[in-house]
Amino acid sequence: MTVLSDIRHHPKDLTLAAYAAGQLDEARSVVIAAHLRLCAKCRLAVADFEAVGGACLETVEPAAMSDSALDSFWLRAGKQEAAPAPASILAANDFALDAAHPLARYLKEGVDAIAWKNVAPGLAQHVIPADGYRPGVLRLLKISPGVRIPKHTHGDEELTLILRGSYTDEVGEFRHGDLADLDEDVLHAPLATGDQPCICLIATSAPLRFRSIVGRIVQPFIGL
Ligand SMILES: [Zn+2]
Repeated sequence: MTVLSDIRHHPKDLTLAAYAAGQLDEARSVVIAAHLRLCAKCRLAVADFEAVGGACLETVEPAAMSDSALDSFWLRAGKQEAAPAPASILAANDFALDAAHPLARYLKEGVDAIAWKNVAPGLAQHVIPADGYRPGVLRLLKISPGVRIPKHTHGDEELTLILRGSYTDEVGEFRHGDLADLDEDVLHAPLATGDQPCICLIATSAPLRFRSIVGRIVQPFIGL
């Protein structure tokens, strides 16, 4: 696991608190977990939130357990078979995922097997199925260098983690490990910078809202 010391964009405290409390949906949890692997600062913050949550629990009056409660707990626990760890996933020309990466269980075939779908010139995406959520909630986006996504806001909230490459927008420059925790107040048009494609992991809770007519026309086709 690589810890990056130069991460400049982090999730909001409220998002980390919700993650610590288990309140985030599956798609957003994956994005936060992937950021935490790279970010010691946010791991400490989550540990603090968990400690606060634990302290709150300790003030709750204990309830009596039935004699069979522990037995049935172990019965249930025993039924949960450990999933076999996927082999290490590595791709020279895309991005690397080790077997313990939160994304690895969603990309069992490996990074090289990702069926990128071209959705616009210089823009490709791969929708990651997540149980119980509408398609598109969790996806990978690959933006070619020099390509700009039309200006848009977000219907609700969006978490974007940079896995490779970089982009700049009205908020700043985002590089590997940086996370954009955006809500409907942010209007931006990310431009992929550098000489390699920018690959982002994105969890959205609502469709994007494009400002321009061009953006609104392409939206149904690119499924953003
Ligand atoms: Zn962080």
